[in-house]
Amino acid sequence: MHIESIPMWEGSGNNYAYLVTDEKTKDAVIIDPANPSEVLPTVKKAVDSGVNLKNIINTHHHGDHAGGNAEMLKTYSVPIIGGKDCAKVNKTPGHGDTFTVGESIKVKALHTPCHTQDSICYFFEDGNDRAVFTGDTLFIGGCGRFFEGTPKEMDKALNETLAALPDDTKVYPGHEYTKGNVKFGIRVLQSDPVKKLESFTNSNKYTQGKFTIGDEKKHNVFMRLDDPDVQKFTGKTDRVDVMGALREAKNSM
Ligand SMILES: [Zn+2]
Repeated sequence: MHIESIPMWEGSGNNYAYLVTDEKTKDAVIIDPANPSEVLPTVKKAVDSGVNLKNIINTHHHGDHAGGNAEMLKTYSVPIIGGKDCAKVNKTPGHGDTFTVGESIKVKALHTPCHTQDSICYFFEDGNDRAVFTGDTLFIGGCGRFFEGTPKEMDKALNETLAALPDDTKVYPGHEYTKGNVKFGIRVLQSDPVKKLESFTNSNKYTQGKFTIGDEKKHNVFMRLDDPDVQKFTGKTDRVDVMGALREAKNSM
């Protein structure tokens, strides 16, 4: 499995699209190609070198994720897999549904409603190589805003659905938001893992794919609702209340 990150709107939205290729067959999918003018050069180069683009995949319907679909279709007329509200979507996989990219990559769709109700994370597995594309549900050291959902839904998305993935699964989020996330995280929890993440972000511009689900369980305060220090920061003990209070505190930062 080869993953190519394509930063979009650097300095403003700091989004990522991802081109994921099966090394055996060169079949590929492009995830959230929201700004075609930044994505197409990379895709064209790959196609010229023998890559077969098979699908566009969307993590959720927001314009900075699914807003490039119509434009992408003009060059690459491929079926779109995504949440039900995504522009031009052809197929919305059910929770737990699987499909393949080429011969080696197995993909499992995981419904994670909250940021939007149509949010889907995609777990990619190629032998011992594992990655999850989390859109605006899970960020490195943080999570998305609850635009269409509740703290209870985000708790389930992060701490049941995504936390159940193998600990060595690398996390590829929809935005580079780690710096801001850790600025908040260190206020909540002054632990070694949070300090480690802080020092990493101070010397690295890009953090996608550098951390795993196992790392998130240690340095992401939204995945540590039972941690006494996190509870102390929020003044709550019920995990759904802790989640809600964390999100509000981050929003007002
Ligand atoms: Zn979004």
